[in-house]
Order: sequence, then structure tokens, then C-alpha cells
Amino acid sequence: MATEMTRREWMKAATAALAAATTTSGLLRADEPFATSPSGKGTGSAVAGSAPAGPVVIEGGQVIQPRRELPILRKTQVLVIGGGPAGVSAALSARRLGVDVTLVERYGHFGGLWTGGLVLYVFPMFDRKGKQVVRGMGEEMLKRIEKLDRGAINRKGNPTVDAEAAKYAMVEMVVESGMNVYLHCWACEAILVGGCVRGAVFESKSGRQAILADVVIDTTGDGDVFASAGAGYEKTIYDIGLVSRLGNLDKVDKAKAAEAKAAGAKPPGNLGAATPIPGVTWVNMRGPKADGLDVAELTRIELNSRRAIWKNVERIRQSPGYEQAYLVETAPQLGVRLTRLLEGVSRLTYAEARAGKTFSDAIGCGGVEGSTPVEWQIPYGILVPKTLDGLLTAGRSVSADFKMADILRLIAICYVTGQAAGVAAALSVQDKCPPRKVEIARLQAELKKQDVWIG
Ligand SMILES: Cc1cc2nc3c(=O)[nH]c(=O)nc-3n(C[C@H](O)[C@H](O)[C@H](O)COP(=O)(O)OP(=O)(O)OC[C@H]3O[C@@H](n4cnc5c(N)ncnc54)[C@H](O)[C@@H]3O)c2cc1C
Repeated sequence: MATEMTRREWMKAATAALAAATTTSGLLRADEPFATSPSGKGTGSAVAGSAPAGPVVIEGGQVIQPRRELPILRKTQVLVIGGGPAGVSAALSARRLGVDVTLVERYGHFGGLWTGGLVLYVFPMFDRKGKQVVRGMGEEMLKRIEKLDRGAINRKGNPTVDAEAAKYAMVEMVVESGMNVYLHCWACEAILVGGCVRGAVFESKSGRQAILADVVIDTTGDGDVFASAGAGYEKTIYDIGLVSRLGNLDKVDKAKAAEAKAAGAKPPGNLGAATPIPGVTWVNMRGPKADGLDVAELTRIELNSRRAIWKNVERIRQSPGYEQAYLVETAPQLGVRLTRLLEGVSRLTYAEARAGKTFSDAIGCGGVEGSTPVEWQIPYGILVPKTLDGLLTAGRSVSADFKMADILRLIAICYVTGQAAGVAAALSVQDKCPPRKVEIARLQAELKKQDVWIG
């Protein structure tokens, strides 16, 4: 009986809310800006907590989420969702143009797979002749990291960073920029007004809240926001692995190890590659091909990878000379390489990059990887959804064929696409035009001002 009353009460409230929401005055226009303060510092009033949620009910065997009003956490000009290399680069670059920027991240740190995934090796920064073609925001971040004690090694080649140094450097840059930040905040749905994305709904310890924006940049890596908004995309199945770090490899008894090798002992397991911390290596893992959007698959791979890593460490420690080796940590974030690829205004193919095709809307260049030529250009169109307005993507979810996406997902290229998305979003706000209509010459000029090499 008590349950029946609750449901009836809820139905009454839901009907009233529906009526209020569909009155013309209550509707939002797709082109209406959410402009905040001209200083770009943001004036959106923070809401302390979420309104009490209506109970989720079971009706006819189906779980029903009631309709309810959501508190607005903030109104902003540029909303960047996902604080990986692409998202941080986008947010910082947009902020340089003086617009109000809000960066939201589901975890407690910046860097995405670069730091949380312990993927520490940044490439491809250089062309085949050794010229650095990835500059701009990526180079600025690496310079900050390099200045820190044990922050980075191999800065003149493709650098390897320390994850904690990178996280710290990004915190400094984000805080200095004066943007708004929400950590521990997971975007679960896009807000759509007349075919235009105008924000997103987030879940956090504060409950379910909305952030409204003039332009949204989806840098979740998985296209969570563009998929929710209804943009076209291609889904990929790719290798998923868990990265780890080993310690004490500077304490290997080399004479003992050489003696064992000469006596025919098996080599130790995977010892990984050097990091800026002496004796500590990062151990990459290819992992099985799986669907990075399937929680059951993610769980299975996480559990299996942890077992495999521990077995690898045991094997190493049983190898003569390697007894002191230990597992420093496993990555807090599972290594999902590719999931959703946007259906963009354009789609970069590996054949085009390999042929050195140039683009009138180029926003940057990538360095050599595989058989890519001396340098290759990246068109703006791969960041722009074919149909939706108010939205851009950057990072590992841009529009490309699979072989090219496998290169575009690399960290150095994520800085480039992130920076272009950030500048384009800021120009879209300033010029009051949708991102697809941003003047390319102006976009390229701003990027050059921010030291991007366009080619
Ligand atoms: C095992 C492995 C090895 C690799 N090796 C290399 C290498 O050696 N060199 C190299 O350059 N690259 C390498 N890569 C690729 C590279 O690490 C990633 O492709 C790159 O980090 C992608 O950057 P991104 O910003 O697009 O996405 P991500 O790094 O995935 O960042 C996305 C961010 O968005 C957040 N997020 C996701 N969903 C939501 C949501 N719904 N709401 C809020 N926040 C959200 C995430 O927490 C994360 O911080 C490797 C990748 C893997 C998995």
C-alpha cells in the first residue's frame, strides 16, 4: 500500500512537471547563449546538492526512471568533458582566448590514459627528418613536466614522463588558467536543444546535476557525450590491456643474472621500458581484443590482467639476480585503446596521411609513425560531427578509418586535436556561430599564435 501511494504521488508530480516544461516560455532556444561574466571567470552559481530524487520504480517488470527537474550546477561558455591529454589541452587552449571554460573529469586527476593508464611514453612528436612538429600546448605541458625533478626523460626524442609529475604539472596549469573544474563527476547524458548540444548531465556524490554550455567538447575518449546526443559513430573492438610499473630494477645482480643465462636459465618476464625514476620501468600490455564499452568485458579483462601482472612479477623475482624486483603499482585506469569513432564532417584515412595529403582546414601535423610520410596534416573536419551542432570531439574518438585512428589516438596527436577543438570552441562562442562555421583562417591564425605547427 505504501508503495502504491508513493507511485501515485510521483505520477502526479511528473505530470505537473511535464506540463511546465512544455510551455513555450519554459523552452530554451538552440542559439541562446549562456554567456557568463565577460572576464571569463564564470558566474554560474554552484548548487550545493541535488534535489531529492524521485524513486526509481518497477512497473510491469520494467525499471522506470521518473521524470524530474535537475539542478543546474553551472552555466558556462565552453564545457570540456574528460580531462585526458586531449581534454586538458582543449580546456587550456580555449581559456587562452578569454572565454569561460569548465573542465569535468570522472576521476580525481588529469591526464587520462597518459597518467591514470600509466602510458608514459609520448609520441609521435617528430617528423622523419627530426623536426618537432607537435608543439603548442603539448610542448608547453612537457616543458612544465621536464622542469620537475625526475619529471621526464628523453625530451629531445619522444619523451617518457613520470605520471605523478605530469598530473602535478597539469594541476598547476589548470589552476593558473582560472577555468572552472569539477573532478569526480561522470557525464552520463548530453543535453540537446533542437539538434544542438547545450550541455550535459553528470552523476557525482552531489547527485545528478546539469551543466549548460554554449559549446561542448567531448574528450571522454569514448565519445560518451556525442553518442548520447545521437551523433553518428563507428564502434571498434580493439586490444585492452592494463599497464603496470616495476621497481628495484637498478638492484639486479647482473653477474648472477649473466651466470644463470649462461647456464641456460629462462629469461625473466617482461621488464618494461625506462621511466624518469631510476630502477622503475613501465610495462605495457597489449591485452585481448574486446568491447571497451561493455562493463562485463571491462571487469573480466581487469581481473585477468591483474592476475597476469602478478604472475609476471613472480616469474621475474624467481629469476636469479632479479629477487629484489617488485610491483610498484598497476594502472588505476584500464587501458582501453579505441571504442567510438565519430562520424565527422570529414574522415581522415591512413592512405591520405601516407600520401601526405594537405587540407585547407588543417589544424596541425603529426610526426612519423609507421609508414606515414615526412609529416602529415590533420583536418578540422574530423573533430566536427556530421550532423549535430554545439559539439566537437578531440583525442582518440576523432573521425578516421581504423588504421588512422590507431595513430590519431597517440598522446602527442591528442594534444594537437585537443588544442584545435579548444580554440575552435572559443571562436565559436566569440563569433556566435556553430563550431562547423568557424572561420578556418581565424582558427589557423589563433593556433599559430599558440605555437601550433600546421605545416
Ligand atoms: C595500453 C595502452 C598503451 C598505449 N601506449 C601508448 C604509447 O606508448 N604512446 C602514446 O603516445 N600513446 C599510447 N597509448 C594511447 C594513449 O594513451 C591514449 O590514446 C590517449 O591517452 C588518449 O587521450 P584522450 O585524451 O583522447 O583520452 P583518455 O586518455 O582516455 O582521456 C579521457 C578522459 O576522460 C575521462 N572520462 C571518460 N569518460 C568520462 C565521462 N563519461 N565523464 C567524465 N569524464 C570521463 C577519463 O577519466 C579520462 O581522464 C596507449 C594506450 C593504451 C590503452
